[in-house]
Amino acid sequence: MALKSQLLEILALLKGLTLKRVCNVIRCWIGYWLSRLTKRSYVFGLPVALTFESASSCNLHCPDCPRGANSLTRSKGLMSMALFERLVDDVWAYTLHAQLFFQGEPTLNANLVSMVEALSAKRIFTVVSTNGQLVTADIAQGLVRTQLGKIIVSVDGTTQEVYSRYRVGGALDRALDAIQLVASAKKQQNASYPIIEMQMLVFSYNLHQIPDAKQLAKQYGANVVTFKTAQFTYPNQEKALIPLDTKYSRYYVSPHGDVLLKGNPSVSCSKPWFSSVIAYNGAVVPCCWDKDASVSLGGADAESFRSIWFGVEYNGFRQLLLNSKRQIPICADCPNGRTRFGFH
Ligand code: SF4
Repeated sequence: MALKSQLLEILALLKGLTLKRVCNVIRCWIGYWLSRLTKRSYVFGLPVALTFESASSCNLHCPDCPRGANSLTRSKGLMSMALFERLVDDVWAYTLHAQLFFQGEPTLNANLVSMVEALSAKRIFTVVSTNGQLVTADIAQGLVRTQLGKIIVSVDGTTQEVYSRYRVGGALDRALDAIQLVASAKKQQNASYPIIEMQMLVFSYNLHQIPDAKQLAKQYGANVVTFKTAQFTYPNQEKALIPLDTKYSRYYVSPHGDVLLKGNPSVSCSKPWFSSVIAYNGAVVPCCWDKDASVSLGGADAESFRSIWFGVEYNGFRQLLLNSKRQIPICADCPNGRTRFGFH
């Protein structure tokens, strides 16, 4: 199941390859490695992957999601089609991969299907992640018709009681229905895409439901089920929620009893050379870890994305990352860039 989905994803990405996009990937690599070796920021390519925040509000109240917990200081809204189209026009020739979600529920944006359509027309592999509560038959049909690459549906428990401990305000049945609606739309349209991924955040209290989750995924028509480590706002206070099986946790407990992130925090990070995130209102931020858009690198509502990407602010951030990653507040708790080569 997982292998077939991976092959489908690779195939879709390969279909999007053009000479310009391949050269762009190479330019990004050269820029990143030259920057790492010289400790000076060089950037030669445009982002290979882009995140568009289609909606920054949400219908649920997940406790460790800053949007769900209402702890973000920035405003809420929906990305307009005009801004989205301008952004796509600016970068589509170079970009291979797009996500239509960041801090919010993408199905709240009535233009979601049109956004997928615009990206598919440019052969950009597109991913939507949803809590599934608002997915209707029409939306499911639309996402299949417009050739969405992958849909991730969050199902963090196999009983309503366990599910709603994290997905506060959500109904397990509706999340499972979303999977089924997309699966039947695919059947009706004889389509291989989107790949349907049922994703379960693993906590100490739902670890035992992993076998049932695999069963449910099959039953409702998901192509793959993934088990994702949960992120905690206050890991030390929430120790009891962290699974004991460390395979399902991004944290470890130090000999002094402190909960710490795995990996080496001082390794550099490649993200700002390869990808970018655009909040609903056009604010460009370096990565999806900047949930509150605290490192605003420019406003794509007022200037072109390219000028922001190659601009002083962005390069200043890259330089800071090369010099002193530990001093950047958003990087301190980030699990990315902790591997040997700074990739994820
Ligand atoms: S280390 Fe994390 S927060 Fe910092 S730039 Fe990389 S992905 Fe973003």
